[in-house]
Amino acid sequence: MKILVINAGSSSLKYQLIDMETEKVLAKGGCERIGIDGSFLKAKGNGQEKVYEQPMPNHKVAIELVINALRDDVIGVIKSMDEIGAVGHRIVASGEYFKKTTLVTPEVQKTLEEKTFELAPLHNPAAATGLRACMEVMPKTPMALVFDTSFHATMPEKAYLYGIDYNDYKAYGVRKYGAHGTSHKFVSAEAAKYLGKKPEQLKIVTCHLGNGSSISAVDGGVCVDTSMGFTPLAGVMMGTRSGDIDASAVEFLARKKNLSHADAVTYLNKKCGVAGISGVSSDFRDLDDGAKKGNARCKLALDMFNYQTKKFVGAYAAAMGGLDCIVFTAGIGENSPNVREGVCEGLEFLGVKLDVKENAVRKDGIHEISAKDSKVKVLIIPTNEELVIARETAALL
Ligand code: ADP
Repeated sequence: MKILVINAGSSSLKYQLIDMETEKVLAKGGCERIGIDGSFLKAKGNGQEKVYEQPMPNHKVAIELVINALRDDVIGVIKSMDEIGAVGHRIVASGEYFKKTTLVTPEVQKTLEEKTFELAPLHNPAAATGLRACMEVMPKTPMALVFDTSFHATMPEKAYLYGIDYNDYKAYGVRKYGAHGTSHKFVSAEAAKYLGKKPEQLKIVTCHLGNGSSISAVDGGVCVDTSMGFTPLAGVMMGTRSGDIDASAVEFLARKKNLSHADAVTYLNKKCGVAGISGVSSDFRDLDDGAKKGNARCKLALDMFNYQTKKFVGAYAAAMGGLDCIVFTAGIGENSPNVREGVCEGLEFLGVKLDVKENAVRKDGIHEISAKDSKVKVLIIPTNEELVIARETAALL
């Protein structure tokens, strides 16, 4: 069976067509600037790339273009739309409405649209628009919703609750939901496979460090805690997001800067994090360059990021009562030896011993970077969220 994975943003739409027999990506690409001038689709298939510069006033036109690209004479990989067995849609937030991958019915679509938008106002409406467009273009194809939050649904109440009035949690669903669940799920399962152990035998801390970063405690194959919260603003500081901050400081800052509640949250999402601390960039490559050239604030931003991430590793080792493996993944986790070294430094007391030379080597696939005699294995595992979405969708059918 071939599964089409769709990740729709407000003005973008990324896709992959995956053959589930081989789990190979047959074709992939993305539409950009949907609904604005200069829209284009960059599509790959058959080892070639084609760019379609065409107006895309809405997501429906974008999906139609994607289907055309999938059937293209040169880069096409299917003859007819009927070859697509199902579509898996990435959904950022589920609230407590969906705990697992769900087949789309009119009822499910209604819940997605009426209940979850306010939980992820930037992401869920866009994903729902992508879903609607797909349903119009492919009315006979089954659609599944795969949630970033599902892997975290196993967290116990003591981990996901905030210390607020319990009645308010019940009334408004204000609690920790987490994010990047498909990534944490994928890399923790891959780690177990690599180590030749059953997931039930392992206590793993997975560090998804990218533009958005989250850390999870995976005990016995299930998530027991995670650093992101009600929204992806929480946890460690990120590219432009503040991470955890005292709520009173937010109110104080909003007053001083004359910001509304909504503007204060936008400020915390867009103007803070390592970009705010360094004053230079949200990109860790720029921070590395800056620090090398002696920019103290770039160095400070990196030190803060590593320190905060390290603290989550320690906290989660304590929460699980042990630690067998640390996994680094995503843009920073996979590519920054400095961050990995900075995070592991000082964790020797937990049995973490990094092989500093191996850590500096770049390798494809899973890469073990702990010393041979390290009690805790440290692994770099490239994430593959699309494959998880495709697998979940196929399993549902
Ligand atoms: P997202 O999917 O959340 O947008 P990614 O997981 O693709 O983000 O991560 C993007 C980030 O990865 C970039 O902002 C950059 O900071 C970081 N990154 C990519 N390559 C490197 C590198 N070679 N060294 C350090 N950081 C890197």
